[in-house]
Amino acid sequence: MDNREMFEALGIKPEVYDYCEVSLNGLKDRFKEIDEIAEYNQLKVVKAMQDANVSEAHLIGTSGYGYDDIGRDALERVYANIFHTEDALVRSQIICGTHALSLALFANTRPGDEILCPVGKPYDTLEGVIGIRPTAGSLAEYGVSYKQVDLLPGSEFDYEGIRAAIHERTRLVEIQRSKGYATRDTFSPESIGKLIQFIKSIKPDVICMVDNCYGEFVKREEPSDFGADMVVGSLIKNPGGGLAPIGGYIAGTKECVARCAARLTAPGLGKEVGPSLDNNKNFYQGIFMAPTITANAEKAAIFAASVYERLGYACHPTADSERFDIIQAITLGSEEAVVAFCQGIQAAAPVDSFVTPYPDDMPGYDSKVIMAAGAFVQGSSIELSADGPIKPPYNVYFQGGLTWYHAKFGIMMTVEKMYEKGLITLS
Ligand SMILES: *Cc1c(COP(=O)(O)O)cnc(C)c1O
Repeated sequence: MDNREMFEALGIKPEVYDYCEVSLNGLKDRFKEIDEIAEYNQLKVVKAMQDANVSEAHLIGTSGYGYDDIGRDALERVYANIFHTEDALVRSQIICGTHALSLALFANTRPGDEILCPVGKPYDTLEGVIGIRPTAGSLAEYGVSYKQVDLLPGSEFDYEGIRAAIHERTRLVEIQRSKGYATRDTFSPESIGKLIQFIKSIKPDVICMVDNCYGEFVKREEPSDFGADMVVGSLIKNPGGGLAPIGGYIAGTKECVARCAARLTAPGLGKEVGPSLDNNKNFYQGIFMAPTITANAEKAAIFAASVYERLGYACHPTADSERFDIIQAITLGSEEAVVAFCQGIQAAAPVDSFVTPYPDDMPGYDSKVIMAAGAFVQGSSIELSADGPIKPPYNVYFQGGLTWYHAKFGIMMTVEKMYEKGLITLS
């Protein structure tokens, strides 16, 4: 049996396979560039592990208070080395990306301070944290105010608007790298660096924090290489390498990280407590795998964009544009197409492939949402996954893929489902 027949045995019609292979043939140079960055980042991670003298003893965890957890402490040195920061907090007690971002915001602001978002509205879940949407326990309840400067057309920074928004109470600036569910572009680490430089030229002591979710290892540099005081993210996205079962990280200056540790545990205890439990081995192996897995996810995003552009759908980013995160948005234009796409991703999953996802109401969303994921770690979006709010323009957001071969199969399965439902023609 050859590969085409094997795909057919798993439900991909030969004409779907052939159609997708044509797109793939045009991507060799792109994939080579991605492999070169992954190679660079693999060496960066190995060097950080070697510099921290990671040994077998570090792979074992602690329980209880977690005093003298040498594996946890060395892992934090590894992260600080990768992000070129003074320190890092990498903990299983940080539940997810929102928790890490919330921790960083609460720890580094005080009553009377103001947070500025200079790139438009932050990620949906941060609206509750900041109190943009009235929420119990928000920063607004603690007297921390919020200001936002929207982007100009073309995802340009509104430098004059930002200058006017900064005042003596501006304490922290939150910059989201990835577009999230917005329609703007994702920012490169360099362009974030330019923005930070501008902000610091107006107020040098303002803390510049970057929401780095989905951006890690896509480029050779991270926002912390361009002046960010803190970079923040989730371990069930890129840096967990698909192996971390939970966790978040904050890498940054000594002062910022110390404040985060005091807030996560208790003032006076800080980084000294917090058992790694049984997570150290998975955290180390995850960060070791992360450059390759990020590359696989990026290849999947580019493959999806090139197939769907040929099918006539608008893709954001476009297939041939430079990438700064692993998210691919595709405007499918109808509920039926969003459902077919997500059902295709689900049907290709290693876990729960027999489940058929349908749109449903979700807390925090103003429309029905469909989600597809058959993941080893619940909610892990570095694993092949897709979701779409059921409202115009009927975008689907697609990300992840632990192996390129599986991601390729998943994307072909989305095309298969669209084809079976008569939503596309293959010519
Ligand atoms: C995923 C994500 C977050 C945090 O989400 P969690 O689901 O809490 O991990 C924050 N910002 C961006 C841009 C994200 O993609």
